[in-house]
Amino acid sequence: MTQILKRITWFNQINVYLISTPQGPVLVDSAAPGMFRWLVKSLRKLGIVPEQLAGVIVTHFHIDHVGTAMALQKCGVPVYALSTEIPIMMGDAPHSGYGGTVGNLLLMVEQLFFGKPSFLGVQSLSAGQKIFGTDWRVVAAPGHTPGSLALYNENTGDLLSGDTLVSDFGCPRANLSLFTADRQRLVESALNLMNLEPKYIHPGHGKTLPLLAYAKAQQQLRNL
Ligand SMILES: [Zn+2]
Repeated sequence: MTQILKRITWFNQINVYLISTPQGPVLVDSAAPGMFRWLVKSLRKLGIVPEQLAGVIVTHFHIDHVGTAMALQKCGVPVYALSTEIPIMMGDAPHSGYGGTVGNLLLMVEQLFFGKPSFLGVQSLSAGQKIFGTDWRVVAAPGHTPGSLALYNENTGDLLSGDTLVSDFGCPRANLSLFTADRQRLVESALNLMNLEPKYIHPGHGKTLPLLAYAKAQQQLRNL
């Protein structure tokens, strides 16, 4: 079947992806808190209401990726994440944190404003698993958070990289920002994703990156 991929973007800063599956449309990531109305409106333009979604897969538990997932869950949409990330999402394990003192301060402010998550439950995904009867395969990408995931479609060469690879003026690079919990693991995961040699990288933030853009970045990563 054709597996349509659409990017729903908020000014290229925050991306949500929509993939078609035999079980219905599936969202990958869910933007930030307060963006539910924007998301519903964006979906409506594509002829979709939230209740039609077969699921929302979150690439990792950061506020700008899970922001509307709880609201979607209230519409009956199941939330999916890599098994490693679920205890953190359910509040059974501590937040993986942001780097350094500034990162800790940011996390404190974030938790002050948005409180603790209250997911009704999160469905578990495993590395290597194909999702919803499609060719999209789950790839574990620990580092940015312990349970970060990417989705790769071998048939089309599309990679949804979450926050493991981000756009740097049209070139993908490993996300070594202070929001990354474990930079060394992140580099390994970023290299692993590059080694899949995707035709297109669709990051959680920024524009889609075509094949030719990343050869240089791949070389740089190898030299780290
Ligand atoms: Zn993140």
